[in-house]
Amino acid sequence: MQRILIVEDEVDIAELISFNLTRAGYETLVCHDGTTGLQTGLKESPELIILDLMLPGHDGFAVLKELRRDNRTSDTPVIMLTAKAQTEDRIRGLEAGADDYLTKPFSPKELLLRVQSVLRRSEAPPGAAEFSFGPFRFDKNNFKFYADGEPVNLTSTEFKLLLYLCERPGKAQDRNDLLRIIWGYSTEVHSRTLDTHMKRLRQKLERHADLVETVRGVGYLVRAS
Ligand code: CA
Repeated sequence: MQRILIVEDEVDIAELISFNLTRAGYETLVCHDGTTGLQTGLKESPELIILDLMLPGHDGFAVLKELRRDNRTSDTPVIMLTAKAQTEDRIRGLEAGADDYLTKPFSPKELLLRVQSVLRRSEAPPGAAEFSFGPFRFDKNNFKFYADGEPVNLTSTEFKLLLYLCERPGKAQDRNDLLRIIWGYSTEVHSRTLDTHMKRLRQKLERHADLVETVRGVGYLVRAS
């Protein structure tokens, strides 16, 4: 059974999420503050973390930063919860390493859709266990990524995006196709999410960042080396 950690200080919302996920067959862990949420995340290594950004004390950004820094949770999928007006927070959260977000209030159906989509992203991609391209090596079973033999911490979303592009070098990939493949659906809002993920991915690739190119009006490509 897949375990999902819910970190949300509003008890009603936390219970509603937990109720719906339990009914859908997931096991849930619930924490009401950032400090306990972080400790539980590190200790229990859940398959997915739903993290509210506005938390007393240790807020969601701080928790996310710590989760990404620790080997046990560096690639654990994280869906963050934001209020409708907090567009800037959403972008900040994605830049800090969240995989997706949900805007309050959300329907149980929307919640499940996001959870399933993010969990699907963390399943091993099909094909041979290893794939190499130029300076990059992908260990698909363990979501480990290496550039010039050095490990680079990618989230499962970043890993799948880069792998998809590297398996199709020199060919521009349409942004709607990327959204559908990685997120399972494409919307206007998620178009911005894609760009944020690509930006963070490039930062992590450091000297190899320019292998990933933006194709104006189309999407992205990885240069054939
Ligand atoms: Ca809150």
